[in-house]
Amino acid sequence: MRCPYCGDTESKVIDSRSVGDGIRRRRQCLGCATRFTTYERLQSRNLFVIKKDARREEFNRDKLLGGIRKACEKRPLPTGTIDKLVDNIETELYRLGKAEIPSSAIGDIVMERLEELDHIAYIRFASVYREFTGIVALKEAVDTLLDTKGEAPPAGQLPLLSQEELTILGQRRRRRK
Ligand SMILES: [Zn+2]
Repeated sequence: MRCPYCGDTESKVIDSRSVGDGIRRRRQCLGCATRFTTYERLQSRNLFVIKKDARREEFNRDKLLGGIRKACEKRPLPTGTIDKLVDNIETELYRLGKAEIPSSAIGDIVMERLEELDHIAYIRFASVYREFTGIVALKEAVDTLLDTKGEAPPAGQLPLLSQEELTILGQRRRRRK
């Protein structure tokens, strides 16, 4: 385990405890003495993802996490939300009890969850996953979202712009007329 601060590969475990189906270890880097945390979990069994070109690839949690993280970049989500979301999706995938899952099925689950979590992240993820080729596809996705969910963001979602910013924008628009 490489230290995230200095890259040293030596660390000592200073605390470890069970959390859910894993073990949380508090480590201290032997190089720079910084403390960091690692999680160890049981790999239930191998799950393969069937990609669009029909190739198989072992399910990779980090890849899923990376995609979701990118969609949620700079979104005001409470710390730990994304990890929890990925945990839930991973659990759901293993619970299906299948050896292989099409990547589209995973994408659909992610879309479903993001729709409940944050509409901006949802649209961002959709634009990559559904491979929007232009602004028309983007508009369609936004329109569908508005039709099914209305303009109100999911409970807990913070606005894209603060009320103050909206007021300033409104004033500018009025002045231009
Ligand atoms: Zn270090």
